[in-house]
Amino acid sequence: MDSQSSISDLRLTGGDLCLDFINTVPHRFKPEEGDYLQSFRDITAWYHHIQGMTPKTIQTLDRLAKSYPQKAAQVFTKSIQLRELLYQICLQVTTGKAPAPHDLITLSTYIAEAYTNMELSWQKEQGRLQLQFNAPALEQVNWHIAQHALQLLTNGPLKQVKQCPGCGWIFLDKSKNSSRRWCSMATCGDIDKVTRFQQRNKKRK
Ligand SMILES: [Zn+2]
Repeated sequence: MDSQSSISDLRLTGGDLCLDFINTVPHRFKPEEGDYLQSFRDITAWYHHIQGMTPKTIQTLDRLAKSYPQKAAQVFTKSIQLRELLYQICLQVTTGKAPAPHDLITLSTYIAEAYTNMELSWQKEQGRLQLQFNAPALEQVNWHIAQHALQLLTNGPLKQVKQCPGCGWIFLDKSKNSSRRWCSMATCGDIDKVTRFQQRNKKRK
């Protein structure tokens, strides 16, 4: 898979930055379909795709990754660990079960690292203070995800967290009557419609 070009086509149906990050694998139930993220540069390409960082920050991080490839590879490994950790935690949440205590301890270390690197700065236009990651560090790619995960997991609404039965992607069901079943009607919902149609036709024959 040409990861960089497929990242720019990646559907964003999670409804939250950390859920969209979990959904950077094509198919949760078919690992043989690969992974959109193959290197640190794929993560900055993903941030570019979701507009989760300014182009200037992305440029800085890409430059740092080029100068410190070993460090970038280490951060990338941690990003994938964080993604899989969040997937496991969200899976438990979708079934209303408590996440595994050791998973929560690991997530806490990611969150602690993120908040250690936050700085308060004055936002002139809004007339208020804002927490920001100001350090130009490669780890910044994980801090944003940890921060969003903390907000989602502590504020919820966790009842809205669901798993698509087609591809296993995680999403927030914001529909009025909580009836959303698929990550997207255009993909998994459509495949399901076609499959049911074919099964009906088979029965008729
Ligand atoms: Zn799906």
